[in-house]
Amino acid sequence: MTTPDISSQALQRIRADVRAMQAYHVQDSQGLLKMDTMENPYRLSAALQKQLGERLGALEINRYPGERLEVLKKMLADYAGAPAGSAVLLGNGSDEIITLLALATAQPTEGARAKMLAPMPGFVMYPLSAKLQGLDFVSVNLTADFDLDVPAMQAAIAAQKPAITYIAYPNNPTATLWEEDKVQAIVDAVAQIGGLVVMDEAYQPFASRSWITRMKAEPERNQHVLLMRTLSKFGLAGARLGYLIGPAALVHEIDKVRPPYNISVLNCETAIFALEHESLYAEQAAAIRAERQPLIDALAALEGVEKIWPSEANMVLLRVADAGRAQAEMKKRGVLVKNVSAMHPLLNNCLRLTVGTREENAQMLAALKESL
Ligand code: PMP
Repeated sequence: MTTPDISSQALQRIRADVRAMQAYHVQDSQGLLKMDTMENPYRLSAALQKQLGERLGALEINRYPGERLEVLKKMLADYAGAPAGSAVLLGNGSDEIITLLALATAQPTEGARAKMLAPMPGFVMYPLSAKLQGLDFVSVNLTADFDLDVPAMQAAIAAQKPAITYIAYPNNPTATLWEEDKVQAIVDAVAQIGGLVVMDEAYQPFASRSWITRMKAEPERNQHVLLMRTLSKFGLAGARLGYLIGPAALVHEIDKVRPPYNISVLNCETAIFALEHESLYAEQAAAIRAERQPLIDALAALEGVEKIWPSEANMVLLRVADAGRAQAEMKKRGVLVKNVSAMHPLLNNCLRLTVGTREENAQMLAALKESL
């Protein structure tokens, strides 16, 4: 009797589409200046590190997370200025919320799979979550200058009737903050077909406006809008805390698909601590914003930078002759940036750089100059 090859049989039990996928690739950054993932460059002061350490050390980590999550939700709602009648859902980063939203909306109608729509190039987690949770992803191209193509979006929404439409406000990787009227036209088009809109404000600390203003000004028109935020770009990428704000009835339904203890007591208390020091983080965001335009001007002046786009986030997108080569050369010079060329045809030969401290930006600029 031959023994069956158990390990290969077991492998076949993993979904074929998952086996065919590439894993999400996190670039190795050891010993490099990390300018590839839009992190906040500032660490806590030694005094605050000590305070946080004491707070975390005193937690009952033998218990499941409990009522402190409610304290955190209230703090986040106050911090964001949530409209009356809204509720907050917490995620292990907004990445988890994207997964939960797909899980909650993946409901076939009239024999067809549910759809998710987003303008592209945009955040890669939207199509990935759609694929994994069984929604069809509808991609609508931005215009060549990375603006929303409103007629194309309206037509796609009317024809495809997506259950969920994402708008990143500002967008990653283009750093664009769309005009309010254009976004409103899309929000209204989604209302016509009875869909949901998720306004993804991951980069809100660096943007000149938030959709929350519109939600408060016209609650009726925004009943189907969920605002997604994260503390990652605020300065807590390592603590993993995303949040969703929206009409309570809607948020409570989505909350049912959340694993009950998705936020550890450590994440929760770290986020509370950070919000208690909100003004410190506001100063850091202001410092990053102040460095953004000087960086863009200096990059635009480099010979070999073919095009650079405006930014309302802590990132800058630019086009060079050979992004692959430039990225590799910068890495040799100790600076890690992201070559986004493969993400979308409109991003051909584009590099995405994080905006950091003045010193980091200077080092990145010098490395790019030598790499072009
Ligand atoms: N939305 C957008 C537009 C992003 O760029 C990112 C992170 N790069 C996220 C959501 C997810 O962030 P996190 O999971 O760290 O909250």
